[in-house]
Formats: sequence, C-alpha cells, structure tokens
Amino acid sequence: MERFGITEINDEIFSRIAGKSYKVNCPLPLGELRYLKLLHKNLSGEILSGEMICNVKIAEVVLDIFQKLFAANYPIEKVRLIDEYDADDELSMRDNNSSCFNFRFVSHTNRISLHGYGLAVDINPLYNPYIKTVDGKKIIAPDNSVDFEDREKIFPYKITEDDLCCRLFREKNFLWGGNCWDDEKDYQHFFINAWEGLERV
Ligand SMILES: [Zn+2]
Repeated sequence: MERFGITEINDEIFSRIAGKSYKVNCPLPLGELRYLKLLHKNLSGEILSGEMICNVKIAEVVLDIFQKLFAANYPIEKVRLIDEYDADDELSMRDNNSSCFNFRFVSHTNRISLHGYGLAVDINPLYNPYIKTVDGKKIIAPDNSVDFEDREKIFPYKITEDDLCCRLFREKNFLWGGNCWDDEKDYQHFFINAWEGLERV
C-alpha cells in the first residue's frame, strides 16, 4: 500500500477528473493542483488508502496534517476523489467522504467556492454538516445529517473546536467553518484565504 505522497496531475489522474471536478470553465491551471496519496484510519482502526486533490499552495501542509491524524488514530472514514461521486458534493457528503478540490459554486450563491481553488478541505462531512438559513428556511447539507446538527450531542467523527483535526489545521493558519460566522456553520470545512479578493468559502 502506497503511504503518503504528492504528485502533479498526470494524464491518468486528469482523465479521472476532466469534466467532473475539473470542469471546462475551471479558471485554475492544472499546474496549480496536486494529487495526494494518503493513509487514514476509520473508527475501527482499519488502515485505508486515500486520495485527494488540492492546491499546490497547501499540498504539503495537508499531507503533513493527514500524517499526524493517522499517527494519532484520528478517525476519518473515507478519502476518495469527489469524481467518484460525479463531482456531486451532496453525494460525497452523504457518504461521509472527506475531500478538497471541486470546481463549484457556494451553495445557493454564484460565488466560486474555495473548493474550486483547492483551498478548502472537508472532513467527515456527514457528521459535520453545513447549516445555513436561506430566505428564512434552514438548510442542512448533506440532507441526511440532521441527527448531527446538535453539537452538544456525543457521536463519532464529530469535529469540535479543541479536537486534534481542528488544532492541526488552525496551527497552519486555516480557519474553521464551525466558528467563524454568525449566520452559518460549516463544521466539516477548513479553509485558507491565500489571496485577497477570494470569497470567504
Ligand atoms: Zn467545504
């Protein structure tokens, strides 16, 4: 099993993402992305092989964080390319798949998501939902994560302010969507504002 590694997007990887996470209107040059191979453990401690694509600017940091999470037995259920879900964020989240790059817009807006630049990482999303009020109506994503909205409850894979995952990302100047806005919560979402002018998520 290949352990941890970073490579450029070669033809084989590109053929897997073309037209899916890497859509024709994606403004980011392919050379700005990196493919990560990594190991992770699920709740039972089983060692699993994962794949992730992210921005070259954060590739080494993300790999380092995953190595530390692996060494500490921090549970992460799945790390697959979102292309395996046809780049459908909802399907990936419903399956509790952790991922990074996906050229898409912030839900219910026309802003490019930081995922579209490979600068945001979602961890264990089923248990760490995105919650927002749109036109007076609360939305929760993925839609099968309602049981995990109450953050006082105890359940596996829950990200909290002081857990290892949160601390490691914050040490590297990532922000956590679970505590940076009043009007929405995105408990799965770690992001970095690498350039001025980018939208916040
Ligand atoms: Zn996210």
